[in-house]
Amino acid sequence: MTSLNENETYPCPVCRTGEVKPLPLMEDTFSCEFCQHLFTANFSQQVLKMMDSEIPLSWYWDGKKWSNPYRKGLDIGWEYFVLGVLFITIPPLIVGTGAYLFPPIPGTPLAWLPTVWTILTFLAHFVILIWLIVEYYQFPVVMYLRTRMQRNS
Ligand SMILES: [Zn+2]
Repeated sequence: MTSLNENETYPCPVCRTGEVKPLPLMEDTFSCEFCQHLFTANFSQQVLKMMDSEIPLSWYWDGKKWSNPYRKGLDIGWEYFVLGVLFITIPPLIVGTGAYLFPPIPGTPLAWLPTVWTILTFLAHFVILIWLIVEYYQFPVVMYLRTRMQRNS
């Protein structure tokens, strides 16, 4: 357990690969040597805030890892994982079962609709779940992927 202070390095909450280090001569400023992002630290609140981001992103340091500053110390248990799986599987299952029990007449113009509708239901719920995870962990997916692509090219 180490608190957030200006003498330590921490895993980068953006790329999850590099380390954030305090910048010399710059008070409360950290930078990641891997993805080059800059952060300001609030030591009294143990919060790291991203400086060069269009969207406000911040992370709370709990002594071991970064988490959402608005839900300090709250961890996602397995029951949330089960809920998440149910959330993305139940609706398409209902739609799919309906299509299976009352199959459209093959060859009719809208025969494809139940299948497509089932897939769309699944995708919509999947996207919502991903969004919830991103919001919870303050995990910048786009920035993470962008950093990865820049590294690989
Ligand atoms: Zn980084």
